[in-house]
Amino acid sequence: MRRDTLTLQARYVFPVENPPIEDGVVCIQQGRIGWVGPASDRPGDLDLGNVAIVPGFVNAHTHLELASLDSQKTQGNLERASRTGSEDEVAWLRRVVDQRRKGSNQTLKESVGHNLKASIEAGTTLLADTTTAGLSWEQVAGASLRAVVFAELIGLKRYRGLQTSDAAWNWLATIRPETQVAACARPGLSPHAPYSTSEWLYHKAAGSRLPLSTHLAEMPEELRLLEHRDGPLRQFLEDMDAWDEDWEPLGPRPADYVRRGELRDADWVIAHGTYFDPSEFWQLRPEAAPNDHRVAVAFCPRTHARFGHAPHPYRAMLEKGVVVCLGTDSLASSPSLSILDEIRFLHHRDPSLSGELLLTMATLFGAWALRAETATGSLRPGKAADLAIIPLPDRSSADPHCLVLESDEPVLATVFEGDFVTGPWMGI
Ligand SMILES: [Zn+2]
Repeated sequence: MRRDTLTLQARYVFPVENPPIEDGVVCIQQGRIGWVGPASDRPGDLDLGNVAIVPGFVNAHTHLELASLDSQKTQGNLERASRTGSEDEVAWLRRVVDQRRKGSNQTLKESVGHNLKASIEAGTTLLADTTTAGLSWEQVAGASLRAVVFAELIGLKRYRGLQTSDAAWNWLATIRPETQVAACARPGLSPHAPYSTSEWLYHKAAGSRLPLSTHLAEMPEELRLLEHRDGPLRQFLEDMDAWDEDWEPLGPRPADYVRRGELRDADWVIAHGTYFDPSEFWQLRPEAAPNDHRVAVAFCPRTHARFGHAPHPYRAMLEKGVVVCLGTDSLASSPSLSILDEIRFLHHRDPSLSGELLLTMATLFGAWALRAETATGSLRPGKAADLAIIPLPDRSSADPHCLVLESDEPVLATVFEGDFVTGPWMGI
């Protein structure tokens, strides 16, 4: 039977909104955080030992239905990757489309189940999933985490856009608050990307008043298509029979897709955002969104590295006040669905980046982007006790964040609303 109160003790507690606490405790009362502080003030009921307690991670961009492509890698891709150290993204897109076309709903749902489990084991307690016509909804809504499930809208050709929007709205019609499998999951819509999704679908999505997500400023080929209507993406679309001769971009710049007219009247999570021009950053600041609407960039570091892009401007964006959170993207482009792996990767590449900032991007900024910061994202009394427990190395460091970041120990346990949902303390 669940205890009403449980106080967890750990070598370090990272509240995120306050400095790390050595020998700290988190007091859980009926699934919520009741108190956070030093064990000297209030000893724990359960000493977890040499671990860190951090808020559960927020994965602000993934596709649970996609599996790894690496077993299908063609010789040409492998040769190109070994020559350049990176992979051609348009060629990769062809392989993703191929995987999806070959996959039945059953195989896609199997991927969702597997990837959902891996996400929770990796300490994820809030997740943004982009899925075909709400396919992942029941599995995600029934799992021990919070989520926003974005149904994908795609199509430059009118009939294709109608197919995907009909499928998405049919799914939305099945969701009623009173029959919702879990109160912790919310539906959203995702116009896929400017190169694949026509203008009217973006406007229709914005009119839904649901949270929205889109891939934007993802690759140079996208900018070329928006400016000149040609290049490798046009060739890709023609080869897929998806090109529409009459297509006109919503605007010449990626920011037009989230900032023009009524498109500003929505919450947007922008996946990637690598190729925004610095002159567009101001449009991505929270202040630029009217009526408390939100806009945030979900940077996916290891996916970004895979394709050999220009450096991601996340540091410049953060300095300009843009909220940059983190995503893994899917297993088709990332080796795991762990946000901890993503921040360790960033720390390894750039040790000058503050560990405090990385942890904030991995938790609180993602919670804000998904409008869940009052419920989760930091260890503050009143929020849900959504936690990740991370083993620490047997050494000390002037900055305790380095103990978390300079290690390859995976998350040991995940706590959702006060219950251990993975790891050795399940059932306590
Ligand atoms: Zn994506």
